[in-house]
Amino acid sequence: MKPLYGVYGASGCGRGVMPLLRRQLATADVELVFIDDDPAADAANGHPIWTFDRFASEPASQRLAALAVANAGVREMLDQRCRSAGIDVIGVSAGNVVVMDDVEIGPGALLSPFVTLTSNIRIGRCFHGNLYSYVEHDCVIGDYVTFAPGVRCNGNVTIGSHAYIGSGAIIRQGISIGASATVGMGAVVTKDVPPGVTVIGNPARIMEKK
Ligand code: UDP
Repeated sequence: MKPLYGVYGASGCGRGVMPLLRRQLATADVELVFIDDDPAADAANGHPIWTFDRFASEPASQRLAALAVANAGVREMLDQRCRSAGIDVIGVSAGNVVVMDDVEIGPGALLSPFVTLTSNIRIGRCFHGNLYSYVEHDCVIGDYVTFAPGVRCNGNVTIGSHAYIGSGAIIRQGISIGASATVGMGAVVTKDVPPGVTVIGNPARIMEKK
C-alpha cells in the first residue's frame, strides 16, 4: 500500500495546485488524485478525480490532502471533514517561493509561484497565497485567509480569519482588515476595514449594499 495524496477541489484552484504538489512529491512513491464531491469528469490533467468517500476508504498506508478551494468557508468545512476522518491537511509550496526569517505558518498553506513572505510573520491555518503575492514584515494573518494573485500586503498589516483579498490589491503598511472582509481586485486600502464588509476602489471605500 502506498501513501495517498489528494488535492481537494478539481476546479481552477485545484488544477493550479496539482502540479506543485506533484513536483513536491517527485521522488516519493505515492498515489496522487483529485478529490471532488461534484466532479465534472473522471479525471483531470492525468489524475483521477475521486469523491471524498472514495478517498477516505481506498486502501492506503497514509492519507493527506491539500485543500484547494478558494472559498474560506468551504475550506474550513473541508478541513474539519478531513480532520474528522483522520486525514492530515498538507501545505504545498512552489519551488521559487521565498520565505525569510521567523515566519510561522499554519498547516495547509498553499503558496503559488513567485510568492514572497518576508520576516517575522504569523499566518494561521490553510492560507492561500496566490501567484506573485507578497506578505511584508510583521504581518499577522488569521485562519483560512485567501490572497488572489498579485496581492501586495505591506508591513505590520493585520488580517482577520476568512478575509478574501482580491487580485492586485495593495494594502498600506499598518492597516487592519477585519475577519470575513472582502477587498476588491485592484483596491488600494489606506484605512482600516471593519469585519464582514467589502471594500473597492482607490482609495478603497465600503461598498454599500443595494
Ligand atoms: N467542492 C467539493 N466539495 C465541497 C465544495 C466544493 O468537492 O464541499 C469542489 C467543487 O465541486 C468544485 C471545487 O471544489 O469543483 C471548487 O471550485 P470553484 O470553481 O468553485 O472554485 P476554485 O477552484 O476557484 O476554488
